[in-house]
Amino acid sequence: MQVKKVDHIGIAVRSIEKALPFYTDVLGLPFLGIEEVESEQVKVAFLQAGEAKLELLEPLSPESAVAKFIEKRGEGIHHVALGVDDITERIRELKERGIRMIQDAPKRGAGGAWVAFMHPKSTGGVLYELCERTNRTEGHQ
Ligand code: ZN
Repeated sequence: MQVKKVDHIGIAVRSIEKALPFYTDVLGLPFLGIEEVESEQVKVAFLQAGEAKLELLEPLSPESAVAKFIEKRGEGIHHVALGVDDITERIRELKERGIRMIQDAPKRGAGGAWVAFMHPKSTGGVLYELCERTNRTEGHQ
């Protein structure tokens, strides 16, 4: 297993529009863009914080996992994304070591990255995302 860096930290918010001024005006972080991830029913905004990014996640429907998270635990830190190469191989290694994955195969996340989540029951309560940023397009969904 090789983790290159913390790629980003995901933060659940009720409203990106309301949350954003704190990040851009108070913290002065560069705003990188906003997009909707249909498969997850979330709207996502990225901010650059030094070498890592912050990912604000706003639910687009009450059924989205982020909406359920906010309902249960309130707004706040949702997940930590670890930057890796060759994500398919990393998933295989983790499973071999008995780590439960939420996805057995990488899927497309925000910004065109390939992502897969580990189950918090296997990680001491933290929702970790594996995140591979490459230009490869094979398997594009
Ligand atoms: Zn993320």
